[in-house]
Amino acid sequence: MNKKAIWVIIGLMGAAVIGVVCLQLGLIFTAIRVNEDKFEKDVFEALNTVVKRIEKEEQRDAFGNYANGFVTSYLESEISSMANQPAIEINFAQHTIRTLGTDRMDPDQVSTILSNECQCSRCVAERDQIYRKLFAYYQQDMHGIPIAERIKLPYLKALLKRELANRGIDIPYTYGVYSKQSNSFVIVDDHYVVEEANPQEIAPGYQNIYNSNFQVHLFPEDMPSSPGLLMVHFPTKASYVWSSNIPNLIGFILFTSIIFYCFAYTIRVIFTQKKLSEMKNDFINNMTHEFKTPIATISLASDSITSPIISGNPEKVRRFANIIKQENIRMNNQVEKVLQMAVIEKQDFSLKFTDINLHEVIERAVENIGLQVEKREGVVKAVFDATNPIISGDLTHVSNIINNLLDNANKYSPDHPEITVYTRNIAGGVEVTVEDKGMGMSKEARKHIFDKFYRVHTGNLHDVKGFGLGLSYVKAMMTAHKGTIDVKSELGKGSSFILFFQHKIDNK
Ligand code: ADP
Repeated sequence: MNKKAIWVIIGLMGAAVIGVVCLQLGLIFTAIRVNEDKFEKDVFEALNTVVKRIEKEEQRDAFGNYANGFVTSYLESEISSMANQPAIEINFAQHTIRTLGTDRMDPDQVSTILSNECQCSRCVAERDQIYRKLFAYYQQDMHGIPIAERIKLPYLKALLKRELANRGIDIPYTYGVYSKQSNSFVIVDDHYVVEEANPQEIAPGYQNIYNSNFQVHLFPEDMPSSPGLLMVHFPTKASYVWSSNIPNLIGFILFTSIIFYCFAYTIRVIFTQKKLSEMKNDFINNMTHEFKTPIATISLASDSITSPIISGNPEKVRRFANIIKQENIRMNNQVEKVLQMAVIEKQDFSLKFTDINLHEVIERAVENIGLQVEKREGVVKAVFDATNPIISGDLTHVSNIINNLLDNANKYSPDHPEITVYTRNIAGGVEVTVEDKGMGMSKEARKHIFDKFYRVHTGNLHDVKGFGLGLSYVKAMMTAHKGTIDVKSELGKGSSFILFFQHKIDNK
């Protein structure tokens, strides 16, 4: 998969995830808005019912009082002014007077009683007149009475509580009755408000109620206008509206996080795999390259041996045979390295632990690399400070470890290598440091050098060949020896690989 395709897929996946998140957020916010609308509708319904009940209650009291005296005297005067009225009208009047005089009714009930009587046009007109008169009396009587005196506080309190509860609203609230006559609150939360020094100013404690959206006119039928407002403030309205959506929100956050985590993880895996595949390609290229040279050399040498000029000269034959042998050993070493890695990968290796004198191993390794280093006008030496260099390990692998590190120290020192191997005793074992003054590595490279197939690109730049397997082999072997490996390196200044081997390994 090429890089462009990966980015297109990531882009599409990203757009899809963001799209789903936006849609989901949209749904949640719509649900919250619907909740809020319902809450507001319920509150206004409750407040309008409260206001209506209060007004009807007041009218009932007033009409009850008027009806008795007023209707009686009004109809009596009517009757007396009409000497020979038909019997039904007198009956209607007497019956009405009786009913209106005994019960306490609101205007609707009065109007119903009146309309249950005779339906002739005269009676209807008369009834209207009675009704209008009663209402006019009521309006007149209430005009100018302070609003606080018209409201029975316990009744308002109980009614408000009941109407809100009937609609499922049982959250805390504060309420107030605001008088338009005095431009101030006259009732706040179950108590009457004593006249403010400056009634035009709303006390800070009442600001919330005053600024609330939930306001309805009290006594809306009053003429010319309503004398005041009933206002209610819900301090926890927002959390109430959101509360029913909290499970949705938690689910949304949880599942979105999972999706994002998986998304990020997938992208990481894609890039890791891509890098690995690139590294494997590099490895194959390097390997081909590494084998090409010895194959070509062997081919040339064998051609030469078979040529008649050379074949007669035993000295030259021996030389070319030696070249073939050397190249063969070189190829064998390469194959061995790759095979070692395959074995380690399968965890299919058994170590033969014996007591090893590390100083001897190091001496041999220094000697082996010595020729190559000297050819490049460099120095390689060992400084043995360890008094007890005996460790427990597998001789072949321990030798490979030291050889690999020395080989790298030589390879990655661009000119005149200066390599030193130090040993010293530390608690429980021997510490070996392979130090060079070569090209060193960046911090980023240090993080990856023990990964399989990893090679720093400057390695290629300097045309240093390798498979990127050496250090991962060293690391795997140090772990198998229950030892440790650490690296200190600075770009351009050199590197130190610090190994720790145990004198004795338990449960080997
Ligand atoms: P190879 O040497 O075959 O590339 P290694 O696993 O031995 O593979 O090393 C991995 C990488 O670590 C190398 O490509 C090189 O860039 C870096 N490296 C290893 N040893 C040294 C060193 N002594 N100095 C600088 N860089 C090093």
